[in-house]
Amino acid sequence: MTFETVIGLEVHAQLRTQSKMFCGCATEFGRAPNSQTCPVCLGLPGSLPVINKRAVEMAIRTGLALNCSIRSTNIFARKHYFYPDLPKGYQISQYEEPICEEGWIDLNVNGSSKRVRICRAHLEEDAGKNIHANEGGHSYVDLNRTGTPLLEIVTEPDMRSADEVVAYLKSLRDLLVYLDVCDGNMEEGNLRCEPNISLRPVGSETLGTKVELKNINSFKNVKDSVEYEVKRQTKVLTEGGTIHQETRLWNIELGQTAVMRSKEAAHDYRYFPDPDLLPLSINDEWIDELRGTLQELPQARQQRFITEHGLPEYDAGVLTSSRELADYFEACVKQFAEPKTVSNFMMGELLRELNQAGTPVESSPVSSERLVELLKLVHNGTISLKAAKEIFPEMYTGEKSAAQLVDEKGLQQVSDEGALEHMIQEVLKNNAAQVDQYRGGKETVLGFIVGQVMKASKGKANPQKVSELLKRALSS
Ligand code: ADP
Ligand code: MG
Ligand code: ZN
Repeated sequence: MTFETVIGLEVHAQLRTQSKMFCGCATEFGRAPNSQTCPVCLGLPGSLPVINKRAVEMAIRTGLALNCSIRSTNIFARKHYFYPDLPKGYQISQYEEPICEEGWIDLNVNGSSKRVRICRAHLEEDAGKNIHANEGGHSYVDLNRTGTPLLEIVTEPDMRSADEVVAYLKSLRDLLVYLDVCDGNMEEGNLRCEPNISLRPVGSETLGTKVELKNINSFKNVKDSVEYEVKRQTKVLTEGGTIHQETRLWNIELGQTAVMRSKEAAHDYRYFPDPDLLPLSINDEWIDELRGTLQELPQARQQRFITEHGLPEYDAGVLTSSRELADYFEACVKQFAEPKTVSNFMMGELLRELNQAGTPVESSPVSSERLVELLKLVHNGTISLKAAKEIFPEMYTGEKSAAQLVDEKGLQQVSDEGALEHMIQEVLKNNAAQVDQYRGGKETVLGFIVGQVMKASKGKANPQKVSELLKRALSS
């Protein structure tokens, strides 16, 4: 029997607010343990939560960007469970009436388009952190993170492979970063994802029993863990076994998943509306106002790069993967209307240097002005593309301009017709046999003759000019 993989994703995005979801404590990362706490986020009796308006705005803007509808009435609910990093004994979340519902993200996976539906995105608060230090046999609890706003974004079970999961997650991450609502860093834990995976016989419409994966903190872990889990479930089912509904942890060292706990059902959480919080009303004017603040979103910008700048889809995708990169590209094109030339050089040379140094494009030591100066030298025939690639690393690490480096290194191409004519006549004289072949109709020898001229010029002749002049000389 062959199986189809079915995957749905729950993503928790930490929202980039200054203060927490229901109190005024700072959300800043890395401060002394428990220094950013107050009676509300410590869960002290008698303290009352107040909804953070900025977090609500970020949720609405994200929902709009995800093509969701925004609920006009929002109810916050208590989700009960006991854990030392959750001092109230419940998490404030949204249950039956989430702020965002029924949206989608369109993806391009290995050349084909794919829509992943989003069933909901709701606001909730993060828990604190338990720290299991080995010394002294103690565990510690740091409640600085307790109450940090989270947006949980949940898909329908629409994905069919690890590649689709990674494509969805990258697209979602880019969107959140573009909107400036989340740092989008999986390694730092401000974007966390839990894939739900099941298998079913090919052709079947009913869903199989799912397993939820946790402890995944990079795109690579996402791909590896999903692929591992699909293999594991395939083996169990093929051998006639059954899948248990459970939560499994990804073990990076072993490259395996292992059972963490069997899955709770929703009723185990005893959800009920939080009596301390009034229903939150969101009117159309507020939604429209926030819609007006949305910048051009990555997908629209990618499409525009294709239609307006004539870029291939791949280039457009790479260059719109961050707003800063797209801004840099457009700054170049404004000064130099050769989009594909700019794109090639950015994706090849510039991104290589930036990635190697771990430098974001907005701090690139080569500004768009300096890059354009270099590309113009290639375009007007002063230097070859090869020479441009050669000096680029020096432009990157130093202050010198392209023109200075070209001068210093004597990289100018010879485009002067007189000088080239002279070389050409020499070459024609010394290669009479090939010249006869060419004139006899064997046009392919032209490449050889061009090569001889290039050699005579020690690689400095402008190849386009050479073949132009050669054709003229050979037809006379
Ligand atoms: P839970 O209450 O266990 O968290 P949900 O119904 O809220 O489950 O679904 C959580 C995620 O799991 C969603 O993204 C959903 O699309 C996905 N999902 C639900 N059932 C399955 C299944 N059988 N196989 C794969 N994914 C599933
Ligand atoms: Mg779940
Ligand atoms: Zn607080």
